[in-house]
Amino acid sequence: MDPVDGDSKIRAMSVWTWMSALAVVGLGACGGKGVPRAPAGAPNVLFLTIDTLRADRLGFAGYARPTSPALDAFAASAVVFEDAQASAPWTLPALSSLMTGEVAATHGCSTFGSVLDDSFVTLTERLLAGGYDTACVVSHLFATSRHGLQQGFVHTDDSYAYPEVDPARNISSQVISDQAIRFLDQKKATADATPWMLWLHYFDPHEDYMEHPGISADFVTSGERNAAQVYGDLYDGEVRYTDLHVGRVLARLEELGFAANTLVVLVADHGEEFFEHGAAGHGHSMHREVVHVPLVIRAPGCAPARVTETVRQIDVLPTVLELVSLPSAAGLPGRSLVPALRGQNLSEMGALSELANGAYHLDSWQRGRFKLIRDGKGGARLYDLTSDPLELSDVAAQHASELKALLGELDDAQAAGRERAKLYGGARELAFTPGQQDDLDKLGYGSQHDASDGDQAK
Ligand SMILES: [Zn+2]
Repeated sequence: MDPVDGDSKIRAMSVWTWMSALAVVGLGACGGKGVPRAPAGAPNVLFLTIDTLRADRLGFAGYARPTSPALDAFAASAVVFEDAQASAPWTLPALSSLMTGEVAATHGCSTFGSVLDDSFVTLTERLLAGGYDTACVVSHLFATSRHGLQQGFVHTDDSYAYPEVDPARNISSQVISDQAIRFLDQKKATADATPWMLWLHYFDPHEDYMEHPGISADFVTSGERNAAQVYGDLYDGEVRYTDLHVGRVLARLEELGFAANTLVVLVADHGEEFFEHGAAGHGHSMHREVVHVPLVIRAPGCAPARVTETVRQIDVLPTVLELVSLPSAAGLPGRSLVPALRGQNLSEMGALSELANGAYHLDSWQRGRFKLIRDGKGGARLYDLTSDPLELSDVAAQHASELKALLGELDDAQAAGRERAKLYGGARELAFTPGQQDDLDKLGYGSQHDASDGDQAK
């Protein structure tokens, strides 16, 4: 349920827990001490987020290089959403949308110092209230408790999210997977019937791009390379390295007998650009290389499939909740993708992405054939995705009526998001110490990105 009228989080959660217990397991099955119990046989949830993972750099999405053999095998057993769109072009707002099901205009986590307000009831909290054990192992500062995304986790490990404690210079996939496998082994050993939710956030494809012995050399473009190729080659090695370690967790899931009753969600927070529109990195552009993300869902009882309709990160929360038979919140902007998982077509929906961080202000709205990018000064570009999937030619002048329609839809979506924000407390702003600011700089969240393209509006 949504918090309303100033209800405290605890009060809201206890009421919600009671309602979900009624809805899911019936009054008689509700624990005598008020402890929520998941329905018998409820699936576990393995929630895999990979930072900075471009959809088009993965084999199952058509990439020619062997960056993702483990994820390809997983995708072949699952439902692949071929056009999933991020809510924002950088980590914190995108992860906040995944965890809350809300757009950035609602959760308000838009700057490097934002903290998700406690009044939001996260996916994790909804699972916890539904009787799940919840754990996370994360590798990014924005996924630590200081930004509010660990609401609802009983077990948390974010000790690999701080660059200066990482002995391997920001290479963390191995230890994230080691901890995940330890968690799975412990769950198996305890033979506990309580279903679990495990969130793993992988970071390695994020800059700095590191070299991995035995891997990176396989991804070096021959001949003289330009900067995009040098960065892209290293990036591909990082993706392959991450795939190796995510693959270990998926293999362990099989070995322990969990796979048949575990819902696995794989999604990225955002992609990465390599000078396609004049700059590198992410967080300052809305083009496809940054906001098109992989989304793969393997749910018990759902056959492998490909879904071509546009879907969004805000659709993940209602999808997971429906798959585990827990109620979703009323009024969320996303929709459950379960019909698509069961082979049905999805109606056309618009995808909103928002950026309002420091000097960078951009919004984008993609629906059907067209994609709109609006800058902070009101300038708008329109791209015809059918003839120009790389978003290279602005056709706003040739499609005035479509431009007007999409601008109206973008305004409506943001206005609805701002209206929903009134249901919650606003995001708090952290004041960073010099040391914390230095951590952010090390992770590439300084001001070193050049914005040389007209879309990088300030
Ligand atoms: Zn990120």
